[in-house]
Amino acid sequence: MNLDLYWQAVQQKICVKCIDGDGAGNCRLNEREECALKRHFPIIVQTVLSLKSDHVDPYVLALRENVCATCIHQSPDGKCQVRSSVDCGLDRYYPLVVETIEEVRASAA
Ligand code: SF4
Ligand code: SF4
Repeated sequence: MNLDLYWQAVQQKICVKCIDGDGAGNCRLNEREECALKRHFPIIVQTVLSLKSDHVDPYVLALRENVCATCIHQSPDGKCQVRSSVDCGLDRYYPLVVETIEEVRASAA
C-alpha cells in the first residue's frame, strides 16, 4: 500500500477545503492540536481498505473501534468532546475520507 498516494489524495480533496487548512492542502493546526486524520492516517487507510460497503455505517463503526477507542479525546463511555463540538477534522470529513480512499483503491487496482 502506498500511503503517500492516499495522503496526497486526501490533501487535494479534503484539506484543501478544510476550515483548518491554508486553502492549498496544508494544515494550519500545530503539533499539539494535530488533526486526528493526520495522526491516525495509517490505521484509517487500513480500516477503510478492510471494508467494502455502499453504506457509511460499517465504516463509522470501524472508525470508532479502531481509531476513536485509542484516541486521547474519547472517554471510557465512548463520548468525545472534540467530536461533539465538530472540531475533529477526521470525524467532520469522514464520509469524504472513505470516498477518497476508495477512489484511490479503485484507480490503483
Ligand atoms: S485539520 Fe485535518 S482535514 Fe483539516 S487541513 Fe488539517 S489535516 Fe487536513
Ligand atoms: S472523533 Fe474524537 S475520539 Fe474520534 S478521532 Fe476524533 S477526536 Fe479522536
